[in-house]
Amino acid sequence: MTQENHSCIIRVSNLKKSYGSFEAVKGISFEVQEGEIFGLLGPNGAGKSTTLEIMETLRSKTSGEVTIAGLNLDKQQDAIKQIIGVQLQTSGFYPGLKLIELIKLFGGLYNRDINPMELLAKVNLEDKAKSLYKSLSGGQKQRFSIATTLINNPKIIFLDEPTTGLDPQARRNLWELIREIRSQGTTIIITTHYMDEAEFLCDRVAIMDAGKIIALDQPGNLIDQLISSGFEKEKASKSANLEDVFIHLTGHVLREEA
Ligand code: ADP
Repeated sequence: MTQENHSCIIRVSNLKKSYGSFEAVKGISFEVQEGEIFGLLGPNGAGKSTTLEIMETLRSKTSGEVTIAGLNLDKQQDAIKQIIGVQLQTSGFYPGLKLIELIKLFGGLYNRDINPMELLAKVNLEDKAKSLYKSLSGGQKQRFSIATTLINNPKIIFLDEPTTGLDPQARRNLWELIREIRSQGTTIIITTHYMDEAEFLCDRVAIMDAGKIIALDQPGNLIDQLISSGFEKEKASKSANLEDVFIHLTGHVLREEA
């Protein structure tokens, strides 16, 4: 009998992915719990996107087992696609269509009868329903791309570096949105390069390096472990950083000029 954890929604075991003779993912194992925000962190080339895209059914694996909500990735890909939401890169949208048209288009792809205004309201873009995608600001584009992940009312959404290139106000606004989505019961897998983002958002993080998971825990536990190993910052850290100064001076209000 294997130990079955009932709240486990994703199980990855001994996952490997080779590109030719290069092994990009070297036999990683982890579990994601239902309702958590789980971060995949690591430097460029660590294997984060490869791992994410395998779970998203967008890339084939070389070996290993992946189970998503009890569905086997090898045998039940179509069923998996029905219950996950995948964030497209913002360049994946037709720039000359209105948001409402894009949502109807995606709803058609999923064969879902959705209410576009309700969906836009979830990401605070109701007043942009008739705007062209290309007229949106960076933060609005990201919010819209998150809205499209919700079209099929998924159990799990995958976000690949959702705040890259955004200003501090837009990033914080997106963090709030991601937390709100989670509070409705959706499990979220996110990749990011920003450690403050991971610390703020993620319940647990897996740190990858060169195709392996080198640490997996709650951010607070990882920090405590480092401190208890005797680590000290070279410079005594101040209780605020430059981003705090920036937000203090320029405010939390979202800047939305396109
Ligand atoms: P990350 O998302 O952490 O930056 P990736 O999963 O994109 O890492 O890439 C992991 C490694 O696999 C990198 O060395 C990358 O160059 C390589 N790689 C990714 N995709 C391909 C591909 N389609 N063909 C060959 N090598 C690839």
